[in-house]
Amino acid sequence: MDFDLSEEHRLIQQTARRVAREVIEPRAAEVDETAEYPEDYYQAFKEADLLGITLPTEVGGTDAGTLALAIAVEEVAKFDCSAGLMLLLSSLSTHTVKFFGTDDQRQDYIGPVARGEKKAAFCLTEPDAGSDVANLQTRAVRDGDEYVITGQKCYISGGPNADQVTVFAKTDPADPRSLNAFIVDTAMPGFEVTSIDRKLGVRGVPTGVLTFDEVRVPAANIVGGTEGLGMRAPLATLNSLRPVVGARGVGLAQGAANYALEFAKERRAFGGPLTDLQAIQMKFAEMAIDIEAARMLVYQGSWMVDQGRYGPEHGHMLSVAKAFATEAANRVASEALQVLGGQGYMMDHPLERHYRDARQLMIVEGTSEIQRLVISRALMSGNLAYA
Ligand SMILES: Cc1cc2nc3c(=O)[nH]c(=O)nc-3n(C[C@H](O)[C@H](O)[C@H](O)COP(=O)(O)OP(=O)(O)OC[C@H]3O[C@@H](n4cnc5c(N)ncnc54)[C@H](O)[C@@H]3O)c2cc1C
Repeated sequence: MDFDLSEEHRLIQQTARRVAREVIEPRAAEVDETAEYPEDYYQAFKEADLLGITLPTEVGGTDAGTLALAIAVEEVAKFDCSAGLMLLLSSLSTHTVKFFGTDDQRQDYIGPVARGEKKAAFCLTEPDAGSDVANLQTRAVRDGDEYVITGQKCYISGGPNADQVTVFAKTDPADPRSLNAFIVDTAMPGFEVTSIDRKLGVRGVPTGVLTFDEVRVPAANIVGGTEGLGMRAPLATLNSLRPVVGARGVGLAQGAANYALEFAKERRAFGGPLTDLQAIQMKFAEMAIDIEAARMLVYQGSWMVDQGRYGPEHGHMLSVAKAFATEAANRVASEALQVLGGQGYMMDHPLERHYRDARQLMIVEGTSEIQRLVISRALMSGNLAYA
C-alpha cells in the first residue's frame, strides 16, 4: 500500500492550489455576498485544464481520474466550497453520458464541457421525488423521431446557467425500470428556468427549478441510443462522485481549521494567546482527527472509483466516505467558528460562510440518512462484513 501521491497528482494539486490562492481566495467573500456565478473562477479552471479531470482525452478531457479530481476539489474548497462544486459539476453533469452514452454523444455532449466551452447540469431531483428517485414523474414520450419531455426538476446546481443538461425521465411513470437519461439543449423551446433559489450557502453556484414543457429532442438524444438504462444510470453517476462531495468537505474543513489556527495564535485572552489554552488546543486536535480520517476515506473511495468499483456492490464504501467527510466538515466548521468567538459569527471572517456552506454537503447527492441506508443494507446483506 502506497499512501504517497503520484507525480501527476502532485502537479494537479499544485495547479489547483495556485488557482485557489490567486483567483478564489481574494474573491470568495464577494461571490458569497452577491451570489453571482464566478465566471472568473470558471475561466481560471479552463486555463489550468481543470474542467475535464475525469473526462476522456479523446474529447478534450485530461482523464486524470477521480482521485485527481478529489485532490483538486480539496484545494479550491479550502477557500470556497462553491469552487469545489464547480469542478465537481463538470463530472456530475457528464458521467451518465461517459458511462452509458454512445461515442457521438460523448463527442457532442462531454467534449464542450471538458474543454470549457459549455456548462452543463445533472437533473434528477423533482419537487415530489428527491431521495425517492424511483418515484420521479418527468415523462418522455416517443413521437416519431423525437422524444417529448415534460416535467419539473428542482434544486439543480448550475441549472440556471447551463447550456445543456442530462435529464432523467420515465417513458412509463408507473414503472421505475422505464427510467432513461436524455440530453437536452437548454435553448430548446419548452425549456425554462422557472425560478432561482435563495439559499443558505454555496451561493456562487446557482440552483433553481427547471421546467420542461413538451421539450422535443431528437430520439438520438436518449443516452445510450436506446431505452432501458433504468436506475443504474443515476446510481452509477452519483456513486462515482460521492467521494468527491466528501473532498469538498475535506477542503472546507482544512480552510476553516487553518483560518481559526492563525486567529488563535494572535488573539489574546487570560494573559496569552488562545493557543495556550488547553480547551482550544483540544479543539484543534479534534479538527485534525476529523480532517485526516475524512481525507483517507475520500482518497480510498476515489481510488475505488478509479478501479471501476462504483457499482452497487461497492456503493457502501463510497457512502461511508461521503457521509463521514461531509459530517466531519460540519463539525470542523462549527468548532473553527467557535474558536473565533463573536468574531466567528461576523461576515468579516470566512468562518460563518464555511459553516453555512458545509450544511449543503450533508444533503446533496444523497443525504446523510440515505448514505446510512446504503451502508446498513450492505451490513444486513453481508456485503459489508468484518470477518
Ligand atoms: C443546494 C442544493 C443543490 C442540489 N443540486 C442538485 C443537482 O444538481 N441535481 C439534482 O438532481 N439534485 C440536486 N439537489 C437535490 C438533492 O439531491 C436532494 O435535495 C436530496 O437528494 C434530498 O431530496 P429531498 O430534498 O427531496 O428530500 P427528501 O427526499 O424529501 O427527504 C427529506 C428528509 O427525509 C430523509 N429521508 C428520506 N427518505 C428516507 C429514508 N428512506 N430513510 C431515512 N431518511 C429518509 C432525508 O434524508 C431528509 O432528511 C440539490 C439540493 C440542494 C439543497
